Amino acid sequence: METLIPTINRLQEVFLTVGAEIIQLPQIVVVGSQSSGKSSVLESLVGRDFLPRGSGIVTRRPLVLQLINIAPLQERVKTENGNGIKQNSPNSYPGVTAEEWGTFLHCKNQIFTDFQQIRREIETETERSSGENKGISPEPIYLKIFSPKVLNLTLVDLPGITKVPVGDQPEDIEAQVQEMILSFISNPNSLILAVSPANSDLATSDALKLAREVDPDGRRTLLVVSKLDLMDAGTDALEVLLGRVIPVRLGIIGVVNRSQHDINTQKSLEDCTRDEHAFLQRHYPSLASRAGSRYLAKTLSRLLMHHIRDCLPELKTRVTVLSSQYQARLNSYGQPVEDHSATLLQIVTKFASDYCNTIEGTARYIQTSELCGGARICYIFHETFGRTLQSIDPLGGLTELDILTAIRNATGPRPALFVPEVSFELLAKRQIKRLEEPSLRCVELVHEELQRIIQHCSSFSTQAEALDGGKRWKNDKVAEEKAPPAGFGSPSKGQAINLLDTAVPVSRKLSSREQRDCEVIQRLINCYFLIVRKSIQDSVPKTVMHFLVNFVKEHLQSELVGQLYKQTLLQDLLIESQDTAQQRTEVAQMLEALKKANNIISEIRETHLW
Ligand code: GDP
Ligand code: MG
Repeated sequence: METLIPTINRLQEVFLTVGAEIIQLPQIVVVGSQSSGKSSVLESLVGRDFLPRGSGIVTRRPLVLQLINIAPLQERVKTENGNGIKQNSPNSYPGVTAEEWGTFLHCKNQIFTDFQQIRREIETETERSSGENKGISPEPIYLKIFSPKVLNLTLVDLPGITKVPVGDQPEDIEAQVQEMILSFISNPNSLILAVSPANSDLATSDALKLAREVDPDGRRTLLVVSKLDLMDAGTDALEVLLGRVIPVRLGIIGVVNRSQHDINTQKSLEDCTRDEHAFLQRHYPSLASRAGSRYLAKTLSRLLMHHIRDCLPELKTRVTVLSSQYQARLNSYGQPVEDHSATLLQIVTKFASDYCNTIEGTARYIQTSELCGGARICYIFHETFGRTLQSIDPLGGLTELDILTAIRNATGPRPALFVPEVSFELLAKRQIKRLEEPSLRCVELVHEELQRIIQHCSSFSTQAEALDGGKRWKNDKVAEEKAPPAGFGSPSKGQAINLLDTAVPVSRKLSSREQRDCEVIQRLINCYFLIVRKSIQDSVPKTVMHFLVNFVKEHLQSELVGQLYKQTLLQDLLIESQDTAQQRTEVAQMLEALKKANNIISEIRETHLW
């Protein structure tokens, strides 16, 4: 199984980034009747001698044995000294100076480096909950073995199937044990090692019977025939091993475990494996390459590999999906600012050109919900302003009496022969002045629109400062423009105001001459008003375009550069929020890790599995 370790370790690296355990190696559960050799089989798989074994009922509680692959001691020490890369990797166990060790869930803080002591602790703990007299308990003992030589794998050792209660065992011991076994092997992620001794009839194998109950198709059951060395003289297990008695889909593997004598004399596992091989060569020459503990371990490795291979496509998809998600996130953070001055110039230029484009109607994103930019300015000129002007009555607010009073006031003490010119001039100015307010309103509306455009072309959040600068500057500009364009009838205030403020004499009937004078003045005012209105309607938009809109367009860029492009401002303007910078780094790291994970998966798919 050690050949699998590098692969699993590399996949583990993938898990570190993906953060999920898509590939859960199946847990391997041994089932069989009492003393069939279950614990012995498990031990030979782990390659360490630490499980209580013997005749009679020895395993009386389930033992959930979690094997954890760790880096060799040398590497761990390096990591702890700060020379390694991964400070908090699961492979660093600060303070543990042993190459291999075990821990129990029931005494978490104790580290067992002596495997004989582990065996004693299992025995003590078994007796603690199931008594000293052969009682059993469904409460598992959890043992973790940390070693560079094991796979990350869970093995479960179970009490054997017994029929007749002995000692303190309850009447229904058989049912109880069966239930306990079923609860473990019905997990579809468990691989069943059904252990059946060669010296009893396979057809009566309780192990196979139970396995069939939960795995009728035999997709996850492997039959291990133990005690090949203990068969009666003149008999052998060839027929059984060839699958002629009972076929088992995943295979039938004969093994010779350590006998009680070997255990008692503390014969080493290496010697046992060698002797097992010799035994198989002698008695089953045709099968020797497909039997034995080592072959069993290899077969399990192969089964695990198949399992991994089945999981890989899903893992690969997961990594790909995550990669694209993280790539999108990374893109959304943009690039960090390296050259501040170039970046600022870029931003200002882009802003200015977006701004002009919005006015010209050549912007990349055309608004559809409302008019904006140049189109809105056009609307202001023709609809808002034009119509307002049209709706102003040339003689509005001017009564005959007002006219008469103006004539009188202009002639002084003597009655005049002709209608005095000055009264016409005063009255005309008063009427024309009514065009001033809509004209100024027009300037304001355009100015507001020019400010609104800023929002349309400021997708960059970092340029708040730039916008402020722009606004400030435009405000100044408009203040200058607000002085009405030349040609506006701004009356010489003294006269007009006096004139208009004069209390109007009580109304009376006009004489025919007065009537005529009034009409003359009215006609003149009307004609003149229409001429001026037309000219205002033409000139205000032109003036606004010239002094405001085009001026902004032409000077925006240079003005922004002038105000913002200062060495002292550069750093402040383009400062990035700490959060953004950190998130960008994190996401970039994750993306890097995912790419690596993807490579690892591809390599494993290509090299190790086929
Ligand atoms: P379990 O009850 O199924 O866990 O069986 P154990 O592993 O405790 O083994 C029961 C006894 O049978 C122990 O004394 C083992 O040494 C012995 N044993 C197991 N397998 C073999 C084998 O293949 N050959 C021999 N000679 N003895 C074995
Ligand atoms: Mg046992």
